Amino acid sequence: MAILADAGLTFTTLANSALTSDEARAAVLANPGFGTHFTDHMVTIDWTDGKGWHDAVIGPRQPIALDPAAAVLHYAQEIFEGLKAYKQADGAIALFRPEANAARFNQSARRLAMPDLPEAVFVEAIEKLVQLDRAWIPEGEGASLYLRPFMIATEAFLGVRPARQYKFIVIASPAGNYFKSGAPAVSIWVSDYTRAAPGGTGAAKCGGNYAASLVPQAEAIAAGHDQVVFLDAAEHKWIEELGGMNLYFVFNDGTLLTPELTGTILPGITRDSLLQLAREEGLTVREGRYSLDEWRADAASGKLVETFACGTAAVVTPVGKVSGCDGEFTIGSGGPGQLTGKLKNRLVSIQRGDAPDTHGWIRKI
Ligand code: PMP
Repeated sequence: MAILADAGLTFTTLANSALTSDEARAAVLANPGFGTHFTDHMVTIDWTDGKGWHDAVIGPRQPIALDPAAAVLHYAQEIFEGLKAYKQADGAIALFRPEANAARFNQSARRLAMPDLPEAVFVEAIEKLVQLDRAWIPEGEGASLYLRPFMIATEAFLGVRPARQYKFIVIASPAGNYFKSGAPAVSIWVSDYTRAAPGGTGAAKCGGNYAASLVPQAEAIAAGHDQVVFLDAAEHKWIEELGGMNLYFVFNDGTLLTPELTGTILPGITRDSLLQLAREEGLTVREGRYSLDEWRADAASGKLVETFACGTAAVVTPVGKVSGCDGEFTIGSGGPGQLTGKLKNRLVSIQRGDAPDTHGWIRKI
């Protein structure tokens, strides 16, 4: 049991009397899919107004009891994060930039009027879960243990104000490739819906943003596309991001562009990592605005040669085709581009421990 200096929290470990059998776990790890299987344990930590964080427990993964009046069920006071633990070539287990997820978690908490969780507690909770459930980390290309820390408002009351009780939970799910087909390039649909408005919650990782994206995403799938791209709310002109990924555009002069962080898009940790890696490659990377019209015209003229999406789940995924009410256009050859592949390899080789971690991004467990 470790004492957490920051919050003065002690983790209590509860035994799990219903561990998954080795055979059942092996069957899951052979074909983990994404987000459908879970490990044996979870972390819970409670917060009460006036008392702060308390009762840190790592125990069996199980349903949680919630009062039907719990604020999260009515007013959606909920935030979450997503990060991965990797089994590296030498057998070490590595987290990628968990401190960045901890910092973003607190930014989301502030926007949703929720309490801060000390970053050290966030990271230690994850480390403890990964340690205990290390047998659940799948091996092989594209495989990892996906970690889902989240916080919900648990206080039972009806009324629109910040709750006075919260629960922080971490669960873990073995993951293979995010895109079922392991698609070489995805096709995306330009949504008429808006994901986030200026002054709204677009930059926070809160469940409500994703609830609002379900209908547009379903429309994209129904129209035969993989993902939806959202434009800005004010002018419906500027490209923002996909439902769960940031975007990069690659031009024929070797420069890159990614939509700037205007407060309506999620500040992706993969996006930030690629900004740094691309600059180290000597590439010129600009954060700025880029319109759908420019995108279409540049793809047609050949000025735009690649587009890729990036995020923890999808890593780096080429975008091959873009469709919307105004028709369809293809980017480059419609398949994976050269720079997309190069940047993906740079990132993945750091995460996998195949390249030196010169940025201090890897936290070994
Ligand atoms: N945008 C949205 C809306 C997302 O949900 C995600 C996934 N967290 C991203 C971008 C990519 O962020 P990250 O690289 O931190 O996973």
